[in-house]
Amino acid sequence: MSERTSVVVVGAGQAGLAMSFCLSELGIDHVVLERGEVANSWRTERWDSLRLLTPNWQSRLPGHRYRGPDPDGFMSMAEVVDFVSTYAELVRAPVRTHCKVTRIGPTDDGYHVATENGDLRCKSVVLASGANNLPVVPAVREALPSDVASFTPMDYRRPGDLPEGGVLVVGASATGVQLAQEIHASGRPVTLAVGEHVRLPRRYRGLDVQWWMDSTGILDESYTEVDDLVRARGVPSPQLVGTPERSTLDLNTLTDGGVELVGRLAAIRDGYAQFSGSLKNVVALADLKMARLLDRFEDWAGETEADAPSDPPEPWDPTRVSASPRLGLDLRSGEIRSVVWATGFKPDYSWLDVPVLDRKGKLRHDGGVVAAPGLYALGLTFLRKRKSSFIHGVEDDVRFLSAHLAAHLGIAGRAQALAATA
Ligand SMILES: Cc1cc2nc3c(=O)[nH]c(=O)nc-3n(C[C@H](O)[C@H](O)[C@H](O)COP(=O)(O)OP(=O)(O)OC[C@H]3O[C@@H](n4cnc5c(N)ncnc54)[C@H](O)[C@@H]3O)c2cc1C
Repeated sequence: MSERTSVVVVGAGQAGLAMSFCLSELGIDHVVLERGEVANSWRTERWDSLRLLTPNWQSRLPGHRYRGPDPDGFMSMAEVVDFVSTYAELVRAPVRTHCKVTRIGPTDDGYHVATENGDLRCKSVVLASGANNLPVVPAVREALPSDVASFTPMDYRRPGDLPEGGVLVVGASATGVQLAQEIHASGRPVTLAVGEHVRLPRRYRGLDVQWWMDSTGILDESYTEVDDLVRARGVPSPQLVGTPERSTLDLNTLTDGGVELVGRLAAIRDGYAQFSGSLKNVVALADLKMARLLDRFEDWAGETEADAPSDPPEPWDPTRVSASPRLGLDLRSGEIRSVVWATGFKPDYSWLDVPVLDRKGKLRHDGGVVAAPGLYALGLTFLRKRKSSFIHGVEDDVRFLSAHLAAHLGIAGRAQALAATA
């Protein structure tokens, strides 16, 4: 006999816990199944030096927010684990740790959930299992010479993990620029292959760029408002790092420090890495987009004079690239001893036996309402809003989706009554 509950939430990261908070508020019985410990991804899948790139004041979940002495600081991984674990205790989330979900399949009246510790039956499932379970590594990896070591951000912990010698970092989004900088600082020469990226200053007119993104409403843009949702969901993470100095980390910072920039890695043939000749265009485009964003900030500041900071706009330099960056690199020459694939992450739904994935393996959903009755998703990029995959973005999504779920269970009236008395 399988155990019965109304809702199974898969994953005890911030998203699953925030959903648990809302379900408890609505009086809906549920369990949160977690394959590791609470905040498992932050504990086990990040590199040692990582800090949040969102400031502490932005770390907020339904019923909980950062209240420490450094609202403008950036949490270390230990601090994030503490923040999320404290939340789990605070909201008394019914988490079962070390309970890996191995299969979810449909039944006549809901879902059958198989775990390593027994089975459950439920009417509704919330997939809060994360958007970053697996590294995305391009197929060219297969063509790497066997004596060049290969790392993803999920198995990289610190520069000392890499062999001595040159490192090719592929990808110049948040992860790529952060790893390029720290690996270069360890004394290993770094070449950075740069594809499409988003350039951002850490601060603008004296305030953190996240303050601007928040205040101008950019992070609140809805998935129904953007022209090209597929593209919006694929936008790379911005070149940002959270440090006590609150410094900008862009390609100019890296080249000034001695990192060599090359174009996007296009192919590896006979041990020879080939880079796209588009570096100049790619950086020009990123500069243009950043200039447009700063103009948008200015427009907003002009319209809301009372809220706008009084500091003048800081000048910024266009990204500097060599007139003729290298187009090729012989990976057999010994110059490069390891490659770090900072080429993105994707969710893992290999255990989901419900026909809701498209041909590319992406979940078919409408703002988190998955294309199967009673199935919901959380934490995915631009799920309902631009901020959806961030810590501070989950609240709006869980409020909406828990109400939808209550309606699915036929208790929308109770949910409304509770909301009215809240
Ligand atoms: C490198 C990196 C840096 C980031 N920096 C920031 C930042 O600065 N600020 C910010 O707001 N966001 C940041 N994010 C984005 C986001 O906040 C994190 O990815 C966050 O962990 C997402 O929370 P989540 O609850 O959606 O997923 P997760 O935290 O990944 O939680 C999912 C949980 O599901 C569990 N799980 C998965 N599969 C199963 C299964 N089959 N059975 C049981 N349990 C399962 C996992 O163990 C995990 O604990 C960052 C992401 C990455 C990858």
